[in-house]
Amino acid sequence: MPLVIPVFIPHEGCPHQCSFCNQRRISGQDRGPVSGHDVARTVTTWLARAGGRPGREVQVAFYGGSFTALDPARQEELLRAVAPFLARGLVGSLRLSTRPDAVDPGRLALLGRYRVTLVELGVQSMDDRVLALAGRGHDSGAVVRAVRLLREASLQVGLQLLPGLPGESRRSLMRTTRAVIDLRPDMVRIYPALVLAGSPLARMFHRGRYQPLSLAGAVVRVAWMKSRFAAAGIRVVRMGLQAGPDLEEALVAGPWHPAFGELVQARLMLRRTRRLLARVPAGEQVLLSISSRDQSLFRGQHSANIRRLAQLGLADRFALRLDPEQPRGTVRCLGRKMETRGQGPDEFAPAAR
Ligand code: SF4
Repeated sequence: MPLVIPVFIPHEGCPHQCSFCNQRRISGQDRGPVSGHDVARTVTTWLARAGGRPGREVQVAFYGGSFTALDPARQEELLRAVAPFLARGLVGSLRLSTRPDAVDPGRLALLGRYRVTLVELGVQSMDDRVLALAGRGHDSGAVVRAVRLLREASLQVGLQLLPGLPGESRRSLMRTTRAVIDLRPDMVRIYPALVLAGSPLARMFHRGRYQPLSLAGAVVRVAWMKSRFAAAGIRVVRMGLQAGPDLEEALVAGPWHPAFGELVQARLMLRRTRRLLARVPAGEQVLLSISSRDQSLFRGQHSANIRRLAQLGLADRFALRLDPEQPRGTVRCLGRKMETRGQGPDEFAPAAR
């Protein structure tokens, strides 16, 4: 895993106030713009903290604003602050986030000079109606164009999606997911829409004009998206916003959970297990195998998965084996269990607790 040093430039370069966004609140950075000196100090601090792990890939990331929409002089100020670290080999590359409509060949040429290797686009949705209601100021065509230009500039592409925005239906979320798969990004982040204090969405929520997804509803939708992306070989590197006191303070409503990604993984694990056990005739038992590191995912939060299997009458149809070599997130059926009494030495029947 590379060490990613985040530098927040909240709302810098943003030509629009998107309805769901309040970067100042969630980044906890409510003072003026960061200077080149601030950037250098942040990088130095992170490198010192990470000391003792030579050879680890280090990447500086500019997040929280629309980097390529900044004035070119301002972009250069921020990029130049990292240049000495690049020259000394202390930082290997940069990544940044920006808006799809702020990508053109001229702006990308500047990024190439400072070893930017990955650009993350705030896509949110590929449904033009959802984009308009969110006040994005661009349509889905801008995303398609931006991805093509990034590819032509040999940059890696990350896409950020926000299920649960106003005007989105299950069907439009499915269309968004399919459209994103067609774009073949290198990675995806999925952040279910939250109502943040001070955002236009918070005003809509207080007036009763917006209802966020429930936590359970968001888990179901994101699990579906994750499984589609996985089937297409597209990495989902994050699900749900990073926990932190600033976010918790700014949160008005919405499907937030400090371990949202784990809830999604646990749901997917339950789905795989159910599929395998559905083929097991009543009265028979099979041996399932999971990674030794997936025990808590298999159980689910507060053993929710085990309870669900019991409700479905599937809890007594398997014994579990932990395999340190098995890839994480997978469930394998090793066939019919031969012992009729008790478990083998490395098997157990998980119980709710
Ligand atoms: S979502 Fe992106 S473009 Fe919109 S206000 Fe937030 S940082 Fe700016």
